[in-house]
Amino acid sequence: MSKKITKPCAAATPTSVPPFVQSAAVMIAPAPMKLSANVPASSASSRASAFSTTRLLPELPPALMTTSRSLPASQLLPAATPPTAMRAFTHDRWTFPLQPGNRFPQEKYRLVRERVEQLDAVELLEAAPIAWSDALLVHDAEWLRRIRYGLLTRREEAALGLPWSPELAERTLHATGSTVAAARAALADGAAAALGGGTHHARRSVGRGYCLVNDVAVATALLRADGYRERILVLDLDVHQGDGNADCFAADASVVVASIHGARNYPFERILGDLDVDVPDRTGDAAYLALVEGLLSECAARGPFGLVFLLAGADPWEGDRLGRLALTEAGLVERDRRAIAWVRQHDAALCVTLAGGYGEPIETTADIHARTIALAATPPELLPAAR
Ligand SMILES: [Zn+2]
Repeated sequence: MSKKITKPCAAATPTSVPPFVQSAAVMIAPAPMKLSANVPASSASSRASAFSTTRLLPELPPALMTTSRSLPASQLLPAATPPTAMRAFTHDRWTFPLQPGNRFPQEKYRLVRERVEQLDAVELLEAAPIAWSDALLVHDAEWLRRIRYGLLTRREEAALGLPWSPELAERTLHATGSTVAAARAALADGAAAALGGGTHHARRSVGRGYCLVNDVAVATALLRADGYRERILVLDLDVHQGDGNADCFAADASVVVASIHGARNYPFERILGDLDVDVPDRTGDAAYLALVEGLLSECAARGPFGLVFLLAGADPWEGDRLGRLALTEAGLVERDRRAIAWVRQHDAALCVTLAGGYGEPIETTADIHARTIALAATPPELLPAAR
């Protein structure tokens, strides 16, 4: 079932930790973050036995399931990757045309993937795209028809913030497929990630704010179709309120939707989820982290959960062009550390999605996202201590 890009099976040592992770480790803890195998075997096996994997991963020829076209063939041999490496799914090579001046940071996805490629504890893969019929489990048929065939009005395109193209439609299927694959991998292994996704503004009948299809809702619908019955938490730490998630799960009591976001950020017409925390403009690390702790306590009261989707938006960063908060890079590492530690303490599987991030420079946003992935792939006992 596994479609690997195999990477050299080097033991993780401090010297093998990429610079963007080392800098984060210095920010938050005296000891360097050590990256190695992630999920305890006992955890992985118990999850695998508790969950039917009949539709675990899409079936594509192995060559299409790898991202390693630039790697030498010797690195494509089977069994070179530690079996406990966390799986991360990327779709960055499905690009789409953008008009000059469009602020969608398409290059971010490649930059994140390039950073994640340096992590020994992560196995990088490509998933199959979803089918349009999968999206129909969540979205209205008319909305899907419009984005499939390019029937959006100018006004709808403006609300989306992206020009429609066949490539955009195709990329959407691949991006959503990454989240679906990551969710299934998370249940099998304990933790996994999509190097994209978190399209939380996509509502059932309309998409906007760069979000055409709600990846977490589609993944949840497919997990339910697989037979997965445990409760699910959507923990949305993106700086923008998750109105699309709230809409898609409004009638689903088995999914708790929690969002912490800038009070004055987009979207200005909101659909509230189960837990919503408004954060004032220019809030910094300490005050924000206290609010996150409060939100996690509220979430705990609504558990237990079998699976947590973590929308780890990088846009609360002080250098983000679309955010209004003032978190430092170290503050974001600490946010992720607390969220990931909380998920593990509560014995839930972790599915990370990137969600938003529009920093200047965009390389810093990519660093923030990649650190999130590195933390998710870090064994619990090696997670840095709290600041
Ligand atoms: Zn955002």
